[in-house]
Amino acid sequence: MEIALKTYRIPEGKSLDLKKRKTNVSPVYESKTDYEAILADHVARLADLQQRHYAANAHGLLIILQAMDAAGKDGVIRHVMAGVGPQGCGVFAFKRPSDTELEHDFLWRAVGKLPGRGEIAIFNRSYYESVLVVKVHAKSLKEEIGPDGTPGAQLWQERYRSIRDFERHLHVNGTRIVKIFLHVSKEEQRQRFLARIDEPHKNWKMTPADIEERQFWKDYRRAYEACIEATSTKEAPWYVVPADDKENARLIVSQIVLDALDGLGPEYPEISLEQRGQLQAIRAQLLAEGE
Ligand code: ATP
Ligand code: MG
Repeated sequence: MEIALKTYRIPEGKSLDLKKRKTNVSPVYESKTDYEAILADHVARLADLQQRHYAANAHGLLIILQAMDAAGKDGVIRHVMAGVGPQGCGVFAFKRPSDTELEHDFLWRAVGKLPGRGEIAIFNRSYYESVLVVKVHAKSLKEEIGPDGTPGAQLWQERYRSIRDFERHLHVNGTRIVKIFLHVSKEEQRQRFLARIDEPHKNWKMTPADIEERQFWKDYRRAYEACIEATSTKEAPWYVVPADDKENARLIVSQIVLDALDGLGPEYPEISLEQRGQLQAIRAQLLAEGE
């Protein structure tokens, strides 16, 4: 099943009002069985495309996932990438930066994790945290710019620009980028937090810090709006995915990844006549060994 993505894609230079964007839409699937069938189809197609992508060795694919807590990033990664083998696909979680990371510019820690040709890298959070959590909390900014640093008046504009330039540089050099914001409502987050407390096997997912961040909901919303507006480009677009329905979000995200991979048109490398001849010679040799 093909899901139309246009409504989720944020056009370059357009303003974004997340309050007006639904977190909840009528799902693309009709029933649980239907959901499972569509997901299985997407997963199988992704597995095939990823193998071609790996063999073609032409581009890297970077998938950035951002969201408020409990929006379902982990589940998306687990379900959508289920058919993709670990070879050629890496998932990297960006947590609070280490002391060493804090001594470098905010893009530095991402560089070593970027996908090579033929690879897929999924960033579970990313350098975008430096214009999100760091914008919301003055303390995080102090840590990033060092004890003697003073933030310039244009700090955020400069960071957006650094990100745009960085992503453009990656694009020009063969890396394709898609960025996904899982958009949940505050009420849905409340329900999921309650479930994390009430269901013992989910307790480990819940920390007091999550509740603290929830109080900054509005600030985060504004920070997301500003950064998505400033950094959604034709080459590295943002998708705002309604995520109150986890299953629906997974299907939309798998379609985004499918389209991204498909857009690369990955094909198995062509074998030349000469190489085919060599293969035939090797084949004959192997057959002879068995006699
Ligand atoms: P989960 O959804 O399972 O809770 P998570 O992605 O929230 O996963 P956590 O370990 O709970 O993972 O949180 C990582 C924390 O690190 C987030 O609160 C995030 O905002 C924070 N973080 C990431 N990058 C930075 C940064 N550059 N500066 C400060 N904090 C950061
Ligand atoms: Mg968390």
